[in-house]
Amino acid sequence: MLITRRQALITSVGAGIAATSRIIPAQAAAPIAGVPGPAFYRSKLGSYEITVISDGYGVIPKIDGFVINATPEEVRATLAAQFLPTDRIQVPFNTLVVNTGSKLVLIDTGIGDMGPPTTGTWMKNFRAAGFKPEDVDIVVLSHLHPDHINGLRLKDGTEVFPEAEIKINETELNYWTKDAPAASSTITQGYAKAVDRVLGPKLKHLTMYKWGEEVAPGITSIGAPGHTPGHSMFAIASGGATFMAVSDITNVPYLFAKHPDWSVLYDNDPVLARATRHKMLDMLASEKAGVGFYHASFPSFGSIEREGSGYNLVPGFWKAPV
Ligand SMILES: [Zn+2]
Repeated sequence: MLITRRQALITSVGAGIAATSRIIPAQAAAPIAGVPGPAFYRSKLGSYEITVISDGYGVIPKIDGFVINATPEEVRATLAAQFLPTDRIQVPFNTLVVNTGSKLVLIDTGIGDMGPPTTGTWMKNFRAAGFKPEDVDIVVLSHLHPDHINGLRLKDGTEVFPEAEIKINETELNYWTKDAPAASSTITQGYAKAVDRVLGPKLKHLTMYKWGEEVAPGITSIGAPGHTPGHSMFAIASGGATFMAVSDITNVPYLFAKHPDWSVLYDNDPVLARATRHKMLDMLASEKAGVGFYHASFPSFGSIEREGSGYNLVPGFWKAPV
């Protein structure tokens, strides 16, 4: 009799269950827990501690139009090859807390209480990681899109980090407060309204930074324009080690690192964003730097390798707490 591979597997698994069921008595069914653990992940960089805090994920309910220069079939094929759903795009949100020993620095804030039901756990995760909003010394923003800034101010107008110095790139702030409200794109106009909601009421401690400047001890801003005019990434350096927080040089890397020529709907200047993406991914692959994406799957860090005509984010090794 011919036995297929699948039948052979089922038969051997069945035999295993039969054998163990003779030894172990039946147990009472455990209740389904239903509640996930808090989503934060801590790692060391030199003498610094970096903690990734998740704010859940968003769901783009249709594929069409998300990548402006690829067909839905091409996008679906890339999703399927990575065992992802092919009828929607899932976009994770990850912020970073850097404890330099002298300053507690938050890079981007998540969506606060302004997001869909698959988000909104940021503060719970942040507190579970042992932090309090009033402990934050510096909040650095990579750019002023709502998924990065809404966490600065609650729906009711309350400032969430009242003691912190809020740092925004000069070009970025000028664009969103002067040019963007009159832009022809409805997406840009919508984003400008979010900026007005968060930054319109005067923030207590707002300062501006330029590319190349140190925004906190050991944290240097790097110009990565295109996604927005002042879009910035950050090099975090301590004890001879460097970690690159690359913000939105890609939207989800499972599409846009794999296909760096593809452009997401939200890139302000797709041509410039593409050039920046190529330049930065090439640099990250060559330098083998540790890297963290805002929109990669939690905990969103790893290394960049070249793969065909694109790149791949190789997940970092998960060090269990000891
Ligand atoms: Zn984003």
